[in-house]
Amino acid sequence: MNLRRSGYGRGMRLLLLGAPGSGKGTQAARLAKALGVEHIASGELLRAQVRAGTALGATAREYLDRGDLVPDPLVIDMLLPVLERSGAAGGYVLDGFPRTVEQAAAAGGMATERGVAAQLAVHLRASEAELLERLLRRAVELDRSDDAEPTIRHRLAVFAKQTAPLLHYYADRGILLEVDAMRPVEEVTAQILRGVARSDGDDAGGGRGEQ
Ligand code: AMP
Repeated sequence: MNLRRSGYGRGMRLLLLGAPGSGKGTQAARLAKALGVEHIASGELLRAQVRAGTALGATAREYLDRGDLVPDPLVIDMLLPVLERSGAAGGYVLDGFPRTVEQAAAAGGMATERGVAAQLAVHLRASEAELLERLLRRAVELDRSDDAEPTIRHRLAVFAKQTAPLLHYYADRGILLEVDAMRPVEEVTAQILRGVARSDGDDAGGGRGEQ
């Protein structure tokens, strides 16, 4: 399904929530392409700061290496201008941000004011066992400093404690779409695009959950 051609999803603003290994990066890239919007990956932006040797990168590095979240004020300062720009320019797929209720509240406040708030929050749901297996496989394929087993387990725990509360946050706002992320990549993308098409034609809200 090419939503750009069909007219659906133009200017769409969505965010992806999911534990490490749930396929956020893969799905965000596919969705951004299908919708013709920008893919914003907070982890990638932070790793770019580390590589560039900036002050933010130097601070962020220790958190990244431990598998802890970078403190909210730093991430919020980095992300808000990007979000504002791409929201105004025609939409975004947000991958990895927000990760705490504080981040969601800060970004949501600014974005609502500017008319660029996310229209759909997608939860890529997968079992802990599947996530661990995927992450261990990725650790062998890529050489990421946060992909050693104890760090992987820690990142899963950080998700459960600090990011999972966001699921209620967006469910309460009527924009949460639950997706089974253990299905093949193409099917997961297709299910999300169906949710996008529905929410695009349903600005009154409600009834967007799909199991
Ligand atoms: P990711 O590439 O999304 O898995 O993120 C990798 C790492 O970057 C995380 O384990 C955190 O250390 C950091 N990070 C990415 N996004 C955020 C965020 N929104 N808030 C805090 N830390 C983040």
